[in-house]
Amino acid sequence: MSQIIALTNQKGGVGKTTSAVNLAAGLASLKHRVLLVDLDPQGHASMGSGIDKHGLDTSVLDVLLGDVAAEAVIKRKTPAGFDVLPSNGDLTAAEVELLSHEPREACLKNALLGVASTYDVVLIDCPPSLNMLTVNALTAADSVLIPLQCEFYALEGLSALLDTIEQIKQSVNPSLKVAGILRTMYDKRMSLTREVDKQLRDFFGDALLKTTIPRNIKVAEAPSYGLPVTQYARFSRGSQAYRVLAKEMIRRLSL
Ligand code: ADP
Ligand code: MG
Repeated sequence: MSQIIALTNQKGGVGKTTSAVNLAAGLASLKHRVLLVDLDPQGHASMGSGIDKHGLDTSVLDVLLGDVAAEAVIKRKTPAGFDVLPSNGDLTAAEVELLSHEPREACLKNALLGVASTYDVVLIDCPPSLNMLTVNALTAADSVLIPLQCEFYALEGLSALLDTIEQIKQSVNPSLKVAGILRTMYDKRMSLTREVDKQLRDFFGDALLKTTIPRNIKVAEAPSYGLPVTQYARFSRGSQAYRVLAKEMIRRLSL
């Protein structure tokens, strides 16, 4: 059975896209069939997977609107090692265009029905807001992976996200789970990090993932080559951390 995991946090710059691309690569390198759905109009997950977002004839928007089947839009066997349902700036129109599609929160779920079962894992990279695209991701998903940075404001805004998750559970997706809280750009030498760590452990308990992703320059450089860090710099700390994360997710979710 395939599992659909949404990477969500309405805060920008916390490592959602980086984690989506590199977790996809980590899982693919462990022989999992992976589809990465880029649900952000910025199209960074597409570019980071080696896809030219400006050269797309069709994108995830056409799939959401039901105009084109996902199969016809998915880029297969990208150099990154997994399949991608790509996005670009066209997706900015989704918020308005989805208004006329009922049920508008289930457009992604319905669009993935035909293809999800051909993958072991579907990862969804969400935009940095709690908009209709994110609601579509949470409606389609089995679980949510929440990347965050251990900074003073890390917990701020999380309650809005957890509220949204709760609302989705109570309405359209009762079995939605939190798959884990992922600490990114992690530097345990900072005393602030240790403080935030403690708060996170107290608040989330077991949901706090053991794997942390260190701040690592190779992770930041990799997207400019259209490659995951696991390929761009295999032996870097960032690459190793994402491989360990892939194993932890496989264990946790029985992928
Ligand atoms: P989001 O998708 O949540 O907005 P990104 O994944 O785009 O966040 O990351 C924001 C920025 O931080 C990007 O420039 C990215 O290259 C950088 N970054 C993310 N993770 C790391 C890391 N572990 N080490 C160094 N830089 C990182
Ligand atoms: Mg992003």
